[in-house]
Amino acid sequence: MTNHDQIRLDLACACRIIANEKMDDGIGGHLSVRVPGTDEFWTNPYPFYFADILPGDIIRVDARGRVLEGKHQPNPSIDLHPTIYTRREDVNAIVHTHPPYVTGYSALGRVIEIYDQVGSFLFEEQAVYNEFTGTIFSEEGAAPIAEALGNKRLAILKNHGLLAVGTDLRVALIDTLLAERAARVQAVALQFGATRDDALSDEVARQTRDANREIGHYEDTWTALIRGLRRSDPDLFAAEFSQQAKGIA
Ligand SMILES: [Zn+2]
Repeated sequence: MTNHDQIRLDLACACRIIANEKMDDGIGGHLSVRVPGTDEFWTNPYPFYFADILPGDIIRVDARGRVLEGKHQPNPSIDLHPTIYTRREDVNAIVHTHPPYVTGYSALGRVIEIYDQVGSFLFEEQAVYNEFTGTIFSEEGAAPIAEALGNKRLAILKNHGLLAVGTDLRVALIDTLLAERAARVQAVALQFGATRDDALSDEVARQTRDANREIGHYEDTWTALIRGLRRSDPDLFAAEFSQQAKGIA
């Protein structure tokens, strides 16, 4: 399997994981992985439900969103991706979704509070883009979001959803899962009557975040997620199996 084949498989897997977690939003949402050393990137096709996307559907586009490889078109809001890649050399993957808890919470225009060890992963990693001016259809529309993200890993987009960026796709995808889980825990905690005084202290949140990163939480979670997909979504791996059968994997 070539590096590009691996990127396509990983992106399709990420789409399925988001769909399986019921964090997708119809044909909305877009993910990408930068092609190393270029201004090109791989992204999901449009208009597709994430649950239907196969590795062969993933497309490669240039910095203006023009299709270089693949038989589909990118999401109309694709300008968000090159706008971020241009500003952030450390970012090699982007996940933008409208997961229900984060999207509902985003109406408040605030960062997610930290009520448990899962939430601690978000500590000091969240920015807020505190306005919604319509769907992104241009670099001009994307620039304020990229500016609001700054050097953070996550941005809560008011009245819209979530943006996660990472050094690789695993980080951006798993941060997306962690943010949705943390927003859900916060909602439940507040329903039970918790107040901000019941949130983790900054010191404990920081220590918990760093310790869990150090033991390889992102790598281990990705491995577990892929193991689950081999059971739930075997069609993702059909090409891999056929390559193995031919002895060319
Ligand atoms: Zn969106």
